[in-house]
Formats: sequence, structure tokens, C-alpha cells
Amino acid sequence: MAFGKRVLITGGAGFIGSHLCEKLLAAGHEVLCVDNLFTGRRQNIAPLLSNTAFEFNRHDVTFPLFVETDEIYNLACPASPVHYQFDPVQTTKTSVHGAINMLGLAKRTKAKIFQASTSEVYGDPTVHPQVETYNGNVNPIGPRACYDEGKRCAETLFFDYHRQHRVRIRVARIFNTYGPRMLPNDGRVVSNFIVQAIKGEPITIYGDGQQTRSFCYVSDLIEGFVRLMDAPDTVTGPMNLGNPVESTILELAEKIIHLSKSSSKLINKPLPVDDPTRRRPDISKAQETLKWKPVVPLDEGLSKTIHYFKSLLS
Ligand code: NAD
Ligand code: UDP
Ligand code: UDP
Repeated sequence: MAFGKRVLITGGAGFIGSHLCEKLLAAGHEVLCVDNLFTGRRQNIAPLLSNTAFEFNRHDVTFPLFVETDEIYNLACPASPVHYQFDPVQTTKTSVHGAINMLGLAKRTKAKIFQASTSEVYGDPTVHPQVETYNGNVNPIGPRACYDEGKRCAETLFFDYHRQHRVRIRVARIFNTYGPRMLPNDGRVVSNFIVQAIKGEPITIYGDGQQTRSFCYVSDLIEGFVRLMDAPDTVTGPMNLGNPVESTILELAEKIIHLSKSSSKLINKPLPVDDPTRRRPDISKAQETLKWKPVVPLDEGLSKTIHYFKSLLS
């Protein structure tokens, strides 16, 4: 074979997906990127279009898809609260119908299938740091539920297709990830703060800024994806993937102002409903099973991301 495996990446034109397309092409695989371009962008994959091992198909995963493939990475789903709450019914459909279609495809082709699940399955956690055995604290009827419950139902489907149809699954619970190719108007905290800092606009702190998150640079996350996919079939997950270094949102704002040499001031805005108070992954399972841990420190990852947004906005 001229190439390695045939890999389908849903959501491949998005932030994380486009980095994954690049990584798998560089490793010698054929990549089929499927995306409806809701939050994904053609520019993210434009440099890949001249590569004969790369193909793009504009398609919505809530509809069936018949292609031949060896591996599937199922990333299709808007990830920013602003975007997933824009059309909440479509968000749930994307997670649930999308999972059913991709699992049906995996069942027919006998492909391995990876699910981009999320730390949001833990909701506003009462256990800290979050371990995979914690079942979470999710409000099923709040504004975040379309995403959280959609992703939880997708996990259920993955494990039922595994038990009932022997589909080979890998479920990763991804914690906050950042880096180049986040959208400037995406609404997530890292992109918001960096764009505000570069423009000298006020930095919008929701609530008192004492809530915490743990931020993983995109290249670290992608390395974790590939290791999980390449692990033996007994390693199904769910497995936390993220950076365990925890910061308050206020600390993040101060760091971004410092690194971008910005004159921006902080302003307070209301805290969104159901905003989780504390979030940090326990990554012991990934460390032991995949020999994986993040290696890019927050300062370095933020500097690279600031550099990206400076050239994008100039
Ligand atoms: P993103 O919004 O940049 O990427 C999502 C991609 O999915 C976009 O290209 C979008 O156009 C596409 N998409 C959405 N609905 C679709 C549909 N119905 N059919 C086909 N394509 C569709 O977000 P991201 O940060 O790259 O997230 C990628 C995946 O990782 C998502 O599943 C997300 O839930 C998960 N995740 C991300 C984070 C994070 O911090 N970035 C954290 C946890 C989980
Ligand atoms: N499916 C798909 N591509 C395939 C195989 C199946 O999109 O290559 C879809 C199919 O349309 C169905 C879903 O996946 O709606 C689930 O498939 P499965 O075989 O599990 O269920 P069934 O077809 O028996 O309802
Ligand atoms: N946040 C903030 N200002 C912003 C955007 C977000 O203070 O301009 C806060 C938000 O309330 C949350 C945290 O930053 O507590 C992370 O938000 P994001 O939307 O990036 O991700 P998620 O809440 O899904 O982890």
C-alpha cells in the first residue's frame, strides 16, 4: 500500500480536527475529512487540499454516511458554549444521531472508532480532581445540557455498540484545550482573552474569576488521541485527556495580559448559568496506560497562540 491506514475524521475542519488531519497525513495515512463547516473553516484545511492523501467532504453527520475506512475519529460537534447553545436541538442531534451513524459505519466496516467526549460529562463536579469513575453532576434541563447530555448519550451508545456488536471503541474525555485555529469570535475563554488583550479592549471576567479550568495545548492533546487509538482493543476508555495544571480564570487573564504586553483592564460580567466551579483532570489512567502526559507549559502554549492571533488580526 502506498499509504498507511484510511482514516475518517468527522469535524476535521475545526480547531482540534484540523491539527489531527495534519498529524495523521504526516504519519503517512489517507485522511477523509467530513465536516458541515458550522464552526469549522475551509482555511483550516486549505493547505492540505493539494495533498493527494487528503480528501474533504462537506457533510452533516446527523445523516448516514457510506464510505470505506479503517479508523474513525468522531469529533463533529461545536465545542464552545456560545456555538453549541446557538441551536441546541442540532447540538444534541449531532452528538446522538452523529454517534449512531458513525457507530453504524464502524460496525459495517469493522473500523476502530474514537469518540471526542468531554469533561462536561462531569458537569459541575463535586469530586476534585475528576477521575473517570466519577459519574458527574449534570443539570439535564439547563442551557449546557444539549452538549453535556448529548455527549453522555454518545458515550452510552459507544459502550452499547461495543458490548452488543463488538465494535472497537476508544472514548476520550477531553478537558479544555487551546491553540492556533481557535476562532477569534469563538467565545471560549482563551480566544476571548487573547483577542481582547491584543486589541487593548477590556478583558471580560465572568463572575468573580475564581472558577478554575486546566488548559491543555493542542499538540499535547493530539498526541494523546493517537496513543489512545493505537492502544490495544482492551483499552476502551473512558480516559481523561487534559493538562492537570489548574488556574483560576483571573490568573489566566493576568498571564495573557503579561505575555501579550497588553494595556487591557479587567471588567466583570455575569457568570453564565451552570458554569462549572472547578475543573482539573486526574490523568493517572492515561499516564499508566498510554505513557502520556502533556509537555507544553501554559506560558509556552499561550505565547504560540498569542503569536497566531496577532498574525491573524493584523
Ligand atoms: P470546533 O467547533 O472547532 O470543531 C468542531 C467541528 O465539528 C467543526 O469543524 C464543525 O463545523 C463540525 N461540526 C459540527 N457539527 C457538525 C455536524 N452535524 N456534522 C459535521 N460536522 C459538524 O471545536 P473543537 O474544539 O475542535 O472540538 C472538537 C471536538 O472535541 C468536539 O467534539 C468537542 O466536543 C470536543 N472537545 C473539545 C474541547 C476543547 O476544549 N476544545 C474540550 C472537550 C471536548
Ligand atoms: N450507517 C451509516 N453508514 C454505514 C452504516 C450505517 O451511516 O456505513 C447508519 C445507518 O443509516 C443507521 C445507523 O448508521 O441509521 C446505525 O446503523 P446500525 O447498523 O447500527 O443500525 P440499523 O441500520 O440496523 O438501524
Ligand atoms: N469565561 C470568562 N470570560 C470569557 C469567556 C469565558 O470568564 O470571556 C469563563 C467561563 O465563565 C468559564 C471559563 O471561562 O468559567 C471557561 O469558559 P469556556 O467557555 O472557555 O469553556 P467551558 O466553560 O466550557 O469550560
